[in-house]
Amino acid sequence: MRAMVLREPRRALELERRRDPEPGRGEVRLRVEACAVCRTDLHVVDGELRVPRLPIVPGHEIVGVIDRIGPGVDTFALGERVGVPWLGHTCGACPYCMRGAENLCDRPVFTGHGRDGGFASHVLAEAAYCITLGGEVDPLQLAPLLCAGLIGWRSLTMAGEDLRELGLFGFGAAAHLVAQVAGRRGARVHAFTRPGDARAQAFARSLGAAWAGGADERPSVELDAAIVFAPAGELVPAALGLVRKGGRVVCGGIHMSDIPSFAYALLWGERQVRSVANLTRRDAAEFFAFLAEQPLRVDAVRYRLEDANAALADLRAGRIEGAAVLVP
Ligand SMILES: [Zn+2]
Ligand SMILES: [Zn+2]
Repeated sequence: MRAMVLREPRRALELERRRDPEPGRGEVRLRVEACAVCRTDLHVVDGELRVPRLPIVPGHEIVGVIDRIGPGVDTFALGERVGVPWLGHTCGACPYCMRGAENLCDRPVFTGHGRDGGFASHVLAEAAYCITLGGEVDPLQLAPLLCAGLIGWRSLTMAGEDLRELGLFGFGAAAHLVAQVAGRRGARVHAFTRPGDARAQAFARSLGAAWAGGADERPSVELDAAIVFAPAGELVPAALGLVRKGGRVVCGGIHMSDIPSFAYALLWGERQVRSVANLTRRDAAEFFAFLAEQPLRVDAVRYRLEDANAALADLRAGRIEGAAVLVP
């Protein structure tokens, strides 16, 4: 197999040839068809998010076909297409797992973080955390749904009910999918980009955003909620300043620069700030059931597996419209 390997943070990934891995008990092996590149991968590579083991193969938005099945797996068949998300394993016994919040598990293993991920031609995954995907959709279109889509979905759920005016800060892979889901639920989307990024603003409008502007601008209406996908802490008080009484600001990323101190008046009026951490298998089931009824437009930019460093550089520089996807 081929893999793009991170040996230590802040270094380029290196192409490595390895022996094909054998699935252990409860595991399947996938021939990777596509793996999208998430901002979390960038945080791992840039050393902003500590990984429990090195070297590591990043990548947690994996679409592949099962080409080998380990002992004890009877839920999947050879040749079946599945998705492998960020949540790679949970303990099933901690207080969070017991109450159905496996996204907060005390002893989780994340794909491309605590176990090797999908920036590779092949990957092992625990069958119990794989998601059944249909065979007919282009893998390139499916891959970004496995984190950008899923985390976006969970963030939107956390933003509250009856959203009429929704702000999205950072219009990347997640926002381009959430904007469509929110639009179908009757919300008007306000897209905030880097100031002056006319291209990203046009992209947001093409996906149905009612308003698009720089994060230093102000739409003419109050927002019911805002989701902050960009990893910039100063956007949190900026978003709070646009949200109505009782409204929420949801932070969708795993890492963010420090949030600057702000006047209590911004939080007053029962406004809330919360983060969204990881996903549950229930989120995945609900999201993919929704997608089966209402497919989304997925803008994927294709890269060869060997060009993973270029994909990460483009993501870092904000040059990607939609999602970067590696195809081995
Ligand atoms: Zn991700
Ligand atoms: Zn647990």
